[in-house]
Amino acid sequence: MNFSSKLLENAVAEFGRLPGVGQKTALRLVLHLLKQSDADVARFTASLDRLKEDIQYCQECFNISDHTTCEICASFKRDKSLICVVEDTRDVMAIENTNSYQGVYHVLGGLISPMDGVGPADLKIEGLINRVQRGEVEEIILALSATMEGDTTIFYLYRKLREFNVKITTIARGIAFGGELEYVDELTLGRSIATRVPYERHVG
Ligand SMILES: [Zn+2]
Repeated sequence: MNFSSKLLENAVAEFGRLPGVGQKTALRLVLHLLKQSDADVARFTASLDRLKEDIQYCQECFNISDHTTCEICASFKRDKSLICVVEDTRDVMAIENTNSYQGVYHVLGGLISPMDGVGPADLKIEGLINRVQRGEVEEIILALSATMEGDTTIFYLYRKLREFNVKITTIARGIAFGGELEYVDELTLGRSIATRVPYERHVG
């Protein structure tokens, strides 16, 4: 693309670095922003500035939060003996949308993937073990994607957790997790959590 302005080119390059945004879309977004009022653009940039500066991760479940403890972990209505382990915050949002889960979460922040250089130490696994060690947890639901990375992570967690007196279950593995949840309807997702099965059954 031949740009008439270096400023325009730089802005398009930044937008173009976002996932799923090609150069044409980036240009369209930047030109759209240019047409907005100063106040609108200021609000847009301020929200991005604050996002990176002020966002926190819950010290208990590592979900993205505005506080040191997220609203789910802080709620006395949630069952703290039941932890649903997920890949990232999108999964928490999808499961919350089902309005059928009353337990709490643990957000790993990714999946074990040797190909991408992601090992267990890069994920919030230690925090999960600590929660189980405290002895209040009765069941762990491993709600991870039905991919090789998801399977590897589930098996790793199972081996880490089986020494504790805690029930380990998984949800129906046909469910797409980790960003593809918008394609799963809430009823199906809610049902697969309700009909979760012990993990041992899968490994024999
Ligand atoms: Zn939390």
